[in-house]
Parts: sequence; C-alpha cells; structure tokens
Amino acid sequence: MIRTEIKNVFDIKFLGKKIKISGWVRFKRQSKNVSFINLNDGSTINNIQIVLNEDIQPDILDLINTGTSISVYGTLIKSEGAGQEFEVTAKSVEILGVADSNQYPLQPKRHSLDFLRENAHLRFRTNTFGAIFRIRHALSFAIHNFFNSEGFVYINTPIITGSDCEGAGEMFNVTTLNKSKFAKNQNGSIDYSNDFFGKETNLTVSGQLEAEMASLALGKVYTFGPTFRAENSNTSRHLAEFWMIEPEVAFSDLSQIIDLSEKLLKYSINYVLENCKNDIFFLEKRLLEEDSKKKKEERNPMNLTKKLKHTLNFDFIKINYDEAFMILKNSKPNKKKKFKFIIDQWGVDFQSEHEKYLVEKEFNYKPVVITNYPKDIKAFYMRLNNDLKTVAAMDLLFPGIGEIVGGAQREERLHILKNRMTEMKVNEKELWWYIDSRRFGTVPHGGFGLGFERLVQYVTGMSNIRDVIPFPRTPQNAEF
Ligand code: ATP
Ligand code: MN
Repeated sequence: MIRTEIKNVFDIKFLGKKIKISGWVRFKRQSKNVSFINLNDGSTINNIQIVLNEDIQPDILDLINTGTSISVYGTLIKSEGAGQEFEVTAKSVEILGVADSNQYPLQPKRHSLDFLRENAHLRFRTNTFGAIFRIRHALSFAIHNFFNSEGFVYINTPIITGSDCEGAGEMFNVTTLNKSKFAKNQNGSIDYSNDFFGKETNLTVSGQLEAEMASLALGKVYTFGPTFRAENSNTSRHLAEFWMIEPEVAFSDLSQIIDLSEKLLKYSINYVLENCKNDIFFLEKRLLEEDSKKKKEERNPMNLTKKLKHTLNFDFIKINYDEAFMILKNSKPNKKKKFKFIIDQWGVDFQSEHEKYLVEKEFNYKPVVITNYPKDIKAFYMRLNNDLKTVAAMDLLFPGIGEIVGGAQREERLHILKNRMTEMKVNEKELWWYIDSRRFGTVPHGGFGLGFERLVQYVTGMSNIRDVIPFPRTPQNAEF
C-alpha cells in the first residue's frame, strides 16, 4: 500500500477510503479504551489525529510515545471531536522506530529556542522549525523561479578562491599542509608552494567578481551559494557560513540594480504569502505569543502577515547618503546623544542603530535604499561618481533586520579602477583577470548580494539568524 502524505489526507476524496500514513508521533492522549495520536510527517504543519482502539494491538501501545515513528493503516473519517475536520481510525499500527520517552529530548511542550539550537538535529521535528524550513525552501524556489523567468543564467562560482582581495582577515584558510610542517619563507611568511593549490587559498566571501566575468558575456547571471566569513561578530544577524544570492547585470546602471532588488524581494515575499499560508499563520501566532511576554515598546508593531504585506504595498524608499546623513544628524536621538555612535562628520559609516532609526522611525517600517556612499567606506570595485567623493553603491535596509542587500554599479573604466585599487591597496597582480574584463569590451554593469538567511529571518519573523539555517556555524560553534 502506498503512503499518502498527511498534507494530502485532509481531502473529502479520501473520506471512507482505506489509507496508509506514516510519520512521527507528536503527542498521544489516552481516554477510556481509546488512544488519540497526533501524527506529523513534515509535509504540513497540521497533524492528523489517529484514533486507536486499545484492544486492537494492546502490546504496542506503550511504545507509541512522542518521537516514535509509525505507519498507520486505517480509514479517513469525519471527526466528531473539536479541533479537526478529519481523523483516521486505525486498523493496524506498525512501529518503525521507538523513541524512549526517558531519553528523547523533545516533549510535547514548548521548548526554548536555545534548547532547540543545542538539539538542531531534532528541531526539524517541531512545529516552529518545520514551518521555518518549509518557508526557507519556498523562498529559495521563488528566487530561482524569479531569475529564470527574467532570463538570468544561474552560475556557480568557486567556493575555494585564490584571491583575497575582499575581506582579508575575514577569510577561512583552505590548506592540506600539516601545520607543524609549515615552511616559512625568508621573510617569515608561510610558503604555500607545496600546498594543494600551490598558493594560498580561502573559502569565498562573495562570488561577485567571478559572477561579473560571466555577466560580461552572458548578460544576466546570478549565483546562489554558500559564503564564508570569519568575522568574529556574535550577533543575531551574522553567521560564519551563510547563503548569498548575487545577480550581476550587464548594460545596467545603479537605478536598474535597485529596481531589480525591489522586484526580487517583493516577488519572493509574495510567493510565500500565497504558498505557505499555514506555516505563516502558525509563525504569526507564535510571534504574538512571544510578544505578549514582552514590554510594549519591544513588541512588533504589526503581525507577521501585515508586516509582509506592508513590504509589498509600498515603493521602497530611496534616499542618498547625504540625505540619510542629514536626517540622522538632525534626529532627536543624535542631538540628545542617545546613539552610541554620534553622527557628526560626513563620511562615517552607519551603524545598526542608525539603520533602525531610518527604517522604523523616519520611514515607518518601509524598506529603505541608501545610495551613493562615501567612497572610503565602500569597496574598490564600486563606480566612482562625478563628485569624485562618492560611489554608486546601494544598501537596502529592512525593518527589524537592517542591511539585507548590498550592491553597486561596478567601475567599468580601466584607469579609474586601477587608481582605486592602488588607493585601497588591492593587489593588481592577483586580480589580473578582473582587470582584463575592463581591457576587453568593458560595459556598464552592476549587481548586488542578498543575504538569504536575513530574508528568511524577515519572512519568518525569527529574531536570531541561527534559527533559520539548519545547522548554524558561528564563532566557537561547529557542532553537527
Ligand atoms: P553587515 O554590515 O551586516 O555585516 P556587509 O556589509 O558585510 O553586512 P555585504 O558584504 O554587502 O554585507 O554582503 C551582502 C549581504 O550578505 C548583506 O547585505 C547581508 O544580507 C548578507 N551578509 C553579510 N554578512 C553576513 C553574515 N555574516 N551572515 C549572514 N548574512 C550576511
Ligand atoms: Mn559584514
């Protein structure tokens, strides 16, 4: 007999029919001679209730605990009890794997997110994490769908890179050398000539530079892959290993890149609203409960659905750095010295407290794009503006998240690119291939990086980024 997935069972067409379902027991309740079992197989947030007459297989009843995996053969009927429309009366139950209730960490009660993080191998089996990872899947599917329908080519850029131009110091070294045998060069630095690649290699911090090469032939490309940063920031928005989506578009300028990011985000969020209703509804209830324990000023101003729709219903706010700087400089918290970092000198980078102020206070929870940052706080490859002081960069800020996208029009002019590399002490020799693209048939182009987990955070409302990736990698933590 073929198994029916639980998400498909809730259907009038199965009424009175014999079916087989399999799953993990979430909860068992006994009343008189009947056991009621809530079963879940991960296909939906909804459990199916199994009604098991105790005299059918009295010997296995004690084995059916929270966490036990079973297959049930029975008939779908209309439920008379409150809380569910359908249930299954069992003809027989097969135990697939027991879960000793004295040892199984998950119990039918609310566990803290911290506890579940320590049991990341099992947390998939909770309502919350089931919902999160189905939504994470839906978002990644939506993103691929979006780019495919827009004519983009999906490119896989290397995970091991030989260039350390970006984020030096933030990179994870890749080596097969035995540490104790590290040979030193005359100047004391490590000799990598005997290493696997014959040179120093690292895990990628971004696929952008390689994606640019592809875009300068294929036109429109995107990457969607793992990214590694050895930044020692223990925040709720940083992982050492995260996934990034990086489109690059030839023949485009900054405003087209901004429009692309807005369109992509709105498409993906709308996709989840339309296709993950049950999971969103569950997470919304969860957040409301969590909020009810918080102080008024710390609560979310909108429920989850409303927040997501709010993102869809308005144009993203677009301001340039100068405007953002003036708003912040003249803001109440700045004048009253409530900011940790006071905004006084043009040229400073904004901190998360400033981003939060702009998005939440100044622009009422609408996403905000800030453009044309001072060149000194941005990367060498961003296009120099005519004022010679700013570059054609953009950061997209989301409420409750902060920066979710960072992008730019790229510097396509050879001599200016070279000047900027010298200015910012970027090794030209290593990036000979990058420079080549400006020597041969250069064109205006641009792109951005979208942090996938930050998007999942926004859509699920989870406050810690460690709860939206299956097995988080953070400083001092690489369990599983
Ligand atoms: P932040 O200032 O928040 O550290 P960044 O300026 O270092 O971000 P970029 O280098 O522009 O970020 O990377 C592009 C996007 O990747 C960011 O907008 C963000 O969404 C995401 N991102 C960056 N670093 C991390 C990280 N450590 N963990 C998860 N996502 C990240
Ligand atoms: Mn960073």
